[in-house]
Amino acid sequence: MTDHVIAPPALSAVPVAGGGSFPVRRIYCVGRNYAAHAREMGMDAREPPFFFAKPADAVRPLGGEISFPRATQNLHHEVELVVALKGGGADVPVSAALDLVFGYAVGVDLTRRDLQTLAREAGKPWDAAKGFDDSAPISAIVPGREPPAGAIKLAVNGKARQNTVIADMIWSVPEIIAEASKLWRLAPGDLIYTGTPEGVGPLVRGDAVSCEIDGVGALAFTLV
Ligand code: MN
Repeated sequence: MTDHVIAPPALSAVPVAGGGSFPVRRIYCVGRNYAAHAREMGMDAREPPFFFAKPADAVRPLGGEISFPRATQNLHHEVELVVALKGGGADVPVSAALDLVFGYAVGVDLTRRDLQTLAREAGKPWDAAKGFDDSAPISAIVPGREPPAGAIKLAVNGKARQNTVIADMIWSVPEIIAEASKLWRLAPGDLIYTGTPEGVGPLVRGDAVSCEIDGVGALAFTLV
């Protein structure tokens, strides 16, 4: 199109390990997908997965220095396995879900916990709590079909905060893709943040956050 009245917004993209970049269409996120984290948030464990979203330009590829977000006194870290889709569709069966996967990354679902708590109590939307600028730091994407099952870790200033295994997920990667595809027509370029394990906690300006997932990679950022 040549008749745009302003310059088109930049397309968000995430580097791929080994070369190239992955353009981002949408970011879906799963809430409460590890039993111990559901308990620490005061919820029962096994209920159907629920989803929320972040804008595509909330990705913050490769971390680096991230400005401490405005409008919060309680910013929380949530380390998560991220699934990147190369295929799409609606009503995808669990048995075919992994055919849609391009690869995996390490992500952090940064959360304004104070705004989330207020929203939850008032029955209001989570957008301001979850979908703010730079709220989705992400590592390079590693191509591959099979989800990792090993360690997922996050440390703040070198001290361990979250440390468990992907295998503890309540809803597996194929189940998450199948469930999401009942609600939206998934498409190439979609990212899914698959939920965080227990150990979430506050971050302050100056904190150095480092995370890793066995077989996927590592991500580090500092809040400035
Ligand atoms: Mn999360």
